[in-house]
This record gives sequence, C-alpha cells and structure tokens, in this order.
Amino acid sequence: MAIVNAGMITVYDDIEKELLEKVEDVLLNRRPDATERLIEFAEGVKGSARSKEKDTDAWRSGTVEERLSHALVKGITEFVDEDTEEARRKYPKPLDVIEGPLMDGMKVVGSLFGEGKMFLPQVVKSARVMKKAVTYLDPFMEAEKDQKKGKKSRGTIVIATVKGDVHDIGKNIVSVVLGCNNYEVIDLGVMVSCEKILNTARETDADFIGLSGLITPSLDEMAHNASEMKRQGFELPLLIGGATTSKAHTAVKIAPLYPGVTCRVSDASQVAGVCGKLLNPDTRDAFAKEIKAEQEQARRRYEESRSGRATPLPLAEVRAKGPTLNWTEPPISIPSQLGLQVFDDYPLDDIVKYIDWSPFFWAWELKGVFPKILEHAKYGPQAREVYADARRLLDDILEKKTFKARAAIGLWPANRVGDDVEIYTDASRIQILTTFHFLRQQKEKTGSDIYYCLADTIAPKDSELVDYIGAFAVTAGHGVEEYAKELENQGNDYDAIIAKALGDRLAEALAELMHKKVRELWGFGKDENLGTEALIKEKYRGIRPAAGYPACPDHTEKRLLFDLLEAEKNTGITLTENFAMYPASSVSGLYFGHPDARYFAVGPIGR
Ligand code: SAH
Repeated sequence: MAIVNAGMITVYDDIEKELLEKVEDVLLNRRPDATERLIEFAEGVKGSARSKEKDTDAWRSGTVEERLSHALVKGITEFVDEDTEEARRKYPKPLDVIEGPLMDGMKVVGSLFGEGKMFLPQVVKSARVMKKAVTYLDPFMEAEKDQKKGKKSRGTIVIATVKGDVHDIGKNIVSVVLGCNNYEVIDLGVMVSCEKILNTARETDADFIGLSGLITPSLDEMAHNASEMKRQGFELPLLIGGATTSKAHTAVKIAPLYPGVTCRVSDASQVAGVCGKLLNPDTRDAFAKEIKAEQEQARRRYEESRSGRATPLPLAEVRAKGPTLNWTEPPISIPSQLGLQVFDDYPLDDIVKYIDWSPFFWAWELKGVFPKILEHAKYGPQAREVYADARRLLDDILEKKTFKARAAIGLWPANRVGDDVEIYTDASRIQILTTFHFLRQQKEKTGSDIYYCLADTIAPKDSELVDYIGAFAVTAGHGVEEYAKELENQGNDYDAIIAKALGDRLAEALAELMHKKVRELWGFGKDENLGTEALIKEKYRGIRPAAGYPACPDHTEKRLLFDLLEAEKNTGITLTENFAMYPASSVSGLYFGHPDARYFAVGPIGR
C-alpha cells in the first residue's frame, strides 16, 4: 500500500525506461539482486543536479530574443546584462530593445499570469529581470535623450496607502504587476494625505488613482478622497484595493461620492485587466457602464437588506443576557508576577520557530495551509520556490540582525463593571490604572439567547473576586522598512516584498511567543506542552483579542492600551491618527485567561 500525491503522479509511459525496469524489478520481485541494482542506479541519479544544470544551460544557445524571453519568464537575472548588451548592439536604438524583445517577454509573462499558469512570486521575479535590463540600458538612453522622451508607457497610475494606514505589501505587489504591464507607476508610499495624492495625480496628468488600506478607518479615508476628487473636478478612474475593502462598501459608501468610475480591484491578478479595459477607447465606456450598473445593483441589495433587517435589541436588554460563567471551577489563576515587562531586543532566532507560515503564502495569493501548500498540485512548485527564497532572506536577516524585535507585556488585577473592565495598580483594587470599554452584541439571535461582550469573562467588581487581565504590544518592524528600501534600490522588489512579509510573520510569531510566556506567568500555561501547530490552532486556554478585530472593533481603545504599556517608549511603536501601528510589523492586544473566553463578532449595534 502507498499514500500518493495524485498531483505528482507521472504518466506511466513517461517514466524513464531504465528507472521503470529497476523499480518494477523491486516491486514485482523479479530478480534476487533487484534491490542492489536499484540502489546502484540511485547512486547514479544523485548527480541529477548536474544534469539539471545542463538543461538550464540549454536555453543559452537560443537567439538573444529567445534568451531574454526565457530569462523574463523564468526570472533569471544571471545573464541579463550580457544578453541586453548583445541586444543593444543588434537593435538600432536601446529603446528598441525595451519595446521589442523585453516587452515581448513581459507579454508572455502577462498572458501566462492571466491564464493562471504563472503565480505572483514569479511575476514579481520577472519584473526584477525587466528592471535590471532597463537599468542596464539607461545610460545608453541618457546619451540619446530625445529617444527617452519618446518612451511611451500605456498609462500612469498614482498609487498610495491612505492617510492613517501603514500597510503596503498588497499595494507594492500591485505596483510591480502594473509596472510589468508597461504602466508608469508613481507609488507615494504609506500614510499619504488626500492632498498629496490629488496634487501628484494632477501634476503627472495621471490616468488612474489607486488607493489602498488595511484597517477599517481607511474605508472612511477613501470615501473622503472620493469626495475631494469630485470637489476638485477630477474625472479619471479611482481604483480601490486592500483587505477590508469590498465591492459592497465601494458601491455603497465610495462610488456615490464621485461621478467618475470607482472600481474595486479584488487582487493583483485583476489590476492589469481592469486598467487595460478602462484605458482602451473601444472598451472603456461599456466597462464603465457595467461597473456602474453592478454598483447600482449592490446599493439596491444593501437598501433591501437594511430595510428588512431587525433593529438591534436595546442595550439594556442584551446586557441582561450575557453568559453565566463559572468563577471557581477552574479557579481564577493568580499570576506569579504582576505589572509591566519590557523586552528591548528579543533574539530573533528564538522567535522563528513560532512563525505561522500560511499567511506568508496568502500575501502572494497562493491559497493554502503550510506545510501542505508546498505539495499543492497547482501552487506547490511556486510555493516551494518562494518559501526557499524567504528562508534564504530570513537566514540573512537573522545573521545580520537586520530587524529588531521589541515587546511590552503585562498582567494586572482587573474587574468588570458593566461592559467595561477596570485595571488596578495592585490587588487592593483601590487605584484604577485604566478602563477598557467593550461592545456587546445587539443583533437579535434565533438559535441562542446569549449576547456576548469581551468583558463577560472578567469577574465582576461586586463579586469581591480579584481577577486578572493582560496586555501586549510587540513589534519586529524596526529595520524592516530600511532593509526593504535598500533592496528596492537594488532593483529587487521581489526580495523587498518578501522582507516586509517576513517582518509581519516575525511580529505575529513574537505575539505567539509572548502569549505563551504570559500563560506561564499566569500559572495555567505551565504544563501546556503545545507544539507550534497547536499554538497556531489556538489550543491553549484564553485568547488575545486585538483592537479592530470583530470582538473589539473599536480601534480607539488602542490609545488606552498604549498608555497602559507605555508602548511608544517601551517598544518604539507609534499610532497614526487612525490608530494604525507604525512600523507596520507590529501587533497589540489584550489577554483574557478564562477557559470560556472565545473570539466572536460584535456585529451591528445600536447608537
Ligand atoms: N497565526 C496567525 C495569528 C494572527 S490571526 C498569524 O501568524 O498571522 C489571529 C489573531 O487575530 C488572534 O490572535 C487575535 O489577536 C485576533 N483575532 C482573531 N479573531 C478575533 C476576534 N473575533 N476578535 C478579536 N481579535 C481577534
């Protein structure tokens, strides 16, 4: 019997004759020396890396156009300068090399990506080859300035992460994809004011504006940008992207504010198609009409569902319907150490084993769970490649200590007062350090009559029980931006994006590690014995909700959290005007220790 990966099965007839014979000899027990012969054969195959090299070299004998195209499709930078030089000598003008063989190669990349035969990491790698070739040709074009002026892109897009938001991995990937498709991309970076975006668009006579954001307050910021565009008389299409954006939100809250086309782009694989259709005079009007009709429909659906929706239950009613919790069995655990603890420079090497790799692949639009994704029938080869590249970069980061990890954590006595939680300096509970405010579910339920609020799992003040709560702010982000910038300057957007994604991974891993430490301090985590996978699956007691997530959607509570932890001073993380944490690779939240504490969604609430 055998367990096989169906996606990896080779066609029987394609198996190399000699290998097939030797394997069949063993499986069918055809000769007494079958095992020895197979082992001997295997010894010979060991050198297959060498024969692979030969394969790899074979493409070097093609024409210069073929070689450039191959290098672009495979993302090989090794021979770019050499081949580009050869092409430069062959073609009348350096610009002809760009518009000829290089653009042809990128077209192949674009269509393979469009057909789903190539994935994002590979496309970004191809862009790196393109950039290297163009950089090589640049000085020659400087010498023929007029030609450079003639260099025509398809169109110009001004792209930015909106004011108050710091997340840009998705935006960077989109920029690279558009660059590959011969658009001129003016990337204004993160935390960009509406004024700067619109001024730049006007100055550069842009064809599109692209707005990106991750946290929920950015949705309002995007709406503000849209209404400013109307006020200032813009007409160009507005593209909306980022994890919290949606077709519905764009249709209901953004598009009505701006008379031009507002289009939500769901991921990087869509963006070139959308821009192409909006720019082409033959398709532009029909596509704009299609978008507007779709949004009109989305608005109608929203209005219908809203009018059909029951009004939220009165707050007083749901407050009386919180869960009944057991405070004695198991008892409240008393932490062995209370108050704040600061880790100024946590060793990166100790964090790595807590990394949850799955979201790293999601950033690249490779959907699956690690490590299974490495063997995925469709994504496997790409996943293995980008993973190997990430490990290579991670080793370098660890060795050179490029990123600095800092953390502030603490446990304090606490009690619930209604839906609030008071935090005290000590167990006497006389002096209040701060008070966190939580929201309770108000949407009427059919299957249950319990309405949850995070405060429920903290013992009420009038119970006379001293309960505890914890808080954390961690970052692996110091150094990430500088390092990514350095890589970008070397024309290596691919590694720059990986570096940022690794920063995020390390921050989440540090949050996992600190949570484990806190459970040990708290007592109940002492003999937990959970491996990384079990930690990722949250098999431990307690939760660590983070402001902005469904159980505590209000980002403004982060200000109180940061004051409690003195997070700015202790970790170097700052909050933007919309409460995004900067640097981006940072995580913060609260620790709840009750065994019944669960994540949930507050959902719609009343005023
Ligand atoms: N292993 C993941 C962990 C992050 S996602 C990674 O490496 O990316 C899970 C985190 O999101 C939780 O630890 C919690 O902080 C937050 N979270 C998830 N659901 C939540 C909810 N409903 N309310 C509040 N916080 C939530």
